Amino acid sequence: MALRELTHFIGGKNTPSTSGRFGDVFDPNTGDVQARVPLADDAEVEAAVADSVQAQREWAAWNPQRRARVLQKFLQLIDDEKEDLARLLSSEHGKTVPDALGDIQRGVEVVEFACGIPHLLKGEYTTGAGAGIDVYSMRQPLGVVVGITPFNFPAMIPLWKAAPAIACGNAFILKPSERDPSVPLRLAELFLEAGLPPGVFNVVNGDKQAVDALLNHPQVEAVGFVGSTPIAQYIYSTATANGKRAQCFGGAKNHAIIMPDADLDQVADALVGAGYGSAGERCMAISVAVPVGKETGDALIEKLKDRIGKLTVGTSDNSAADFGPLVSSDAVGRVNDYIQIGIDDGAELVVDGRGFALEGHEAGFFTGPTLLDNVPTTSRAYLEEIFGPVLTVVRADNYEDALRLPTEHEYGNGVAIFTRDGDTARDFTARVNTGMVGVNVPIPVPIAYHTFGGWKRSMFGDLNQHGPDSVRFYTKTKTVTQRWPSGIKDNEGHFVIPTMK
Ligand code: NAD
Repeated sequence: MALRELTHFIGGKNTPSTSGRFGDVFDPNTGDVQARVPLADDAEVEAAVADSVQAQREWAAWNPQRRARVLQKFLQLIDDEKEDLARLLSSEHGKTVPDALGDIQRGVEVVEFACGIPHLLKGEYTTGAGAGIDVYSMRQPLGVVVGITPFNFPAMIPLWKAAPAIACGNAFILKPSERDPSVPLRLAELFLEAGLPPGVFNVVNGDKQAVDALLNHPQVEAVGFVGSTPIAQYIYSTATANGKRAQCFGGAKNHAIIMPDADLDQVADALVGAGYGSAGERCMAISVAVPVGKETGDALIEKLKDRIGKLTVGTSDNSAADFGPLVSSDAVGRVNDYIQIGIDDGAELVVDGRGFALEGHEAGFFTGPTLLDNVPTTSRAYLEEIFGPVLTVVRADNYEDALRLPTEHEYGNGVAIFTRDGDTARDFTARVNTGMVGVNVPIPVPIAYHTFGGWKRSMFGDLNQHGPDSVRFYTKTKTVTQRWPSGIKDNEGHFVIPTMK
């Protein structure tokens, strides 16, 4: 059977590639190549940007309410199709179908937020700032903006970027991950069907070459990126050196602090879901558990061991599976390497997920859940992001030692504390040096109308994703000082800077 050959999506059409370069899209359940994704060259990027520039002029002239109606229609279409989309997503990513539905839903919620754009774009107004003088500000779109997105949320993150960007009147070019590009392409088709003018949402598939062409293109005004930290830093520095606005979200090492007063059954349930769900391929996965005190730690390990023993690893379309395969064979290799590094550095291997094979799917990219106890904080297994189903336990003697760990870690995406004590929780939320904090909530991903963003090396830039920050990121403020005086023609010139008296 011939391989499915994917395209770009430019000017409202599936556009076959002319670069002659392709990447493989795998089915992680079987290890087979299931499609070929084009890797754009500079000329294809140029064509996409030129198309977006044209489309944006008309789109920006639509009033915000009319733009919001397109988003509303899109919500209807995606709702009708979400089951099929989830299966498609799951077949390229490897996450289970229910988890893929969550991926879509979290994206949809930002589209819902962006439907409020008429309200969100209202500027500030001061009447009578001086005699006969009014001052007002308006938020205008930037022009053509780009989103470069990771493999692990192929619906959610493109929607987090696209919905506010287009609602604000920009044209949006998506450069999705080359590992699971089919859902992003389908999103572009659905936007068109919802009434979005051709060219307002273009998709350019590709790798570093396409990204670099976008970063260097003078008509790209802003770049939103999500992915690993080294690439986030590269994109941020290149985009900003080229005078573009940029917000680049990177990797993570999310800690969960478990105080001795916490309900350990609840904690163990939460950690198993947050550590192993989606095979740990979430930027908000909990990868470090920090029980406070020996008793807490020993009891927690027993409860985790028990629950891990009951987990089901299966194909992504198996409704009984707790998690599916990793995205690639490289990812399996990387996870195995980190487990070995942890062991070599002195960690205790409590549950070993390496070598797991699913019967009938031996070539799939599977690995089982792993639990490492007493991981030294000097080990790369603690310091670096593993991005797989590995929960590491670092023991702390007391609250202050526990607080120090996420506070001093180079990543600062998410963190959680489990306690029954409000005073401890308040102290923790105030002092921890991390962008998103959960109190008895293991994956504290803020809802759509708040903002999402980590600190330290989890984020380069200032404004967060979605919520009010996204409107600030995708618009520029123009401030008008106006005066309609009577008899201005009779006034003499003023040579001193005007001030409000
Ligand atoms: P990645 O950095 O490999 O790729 C992300 C994007 O960058 C892709 O579109 C890819 O094509 C492009 N890219 C890759 N190498 C490039 C290069 N050398 N030059 C230019 N572009 C390049 O990340 P990934 O493996 O797809 O995603 C997983 C990572 O994303 C993890 O580190 C995870 O923590 C992070 N992530 C962060 C957040 C967040 O909000 N902070 C959310 C999701 C994922």
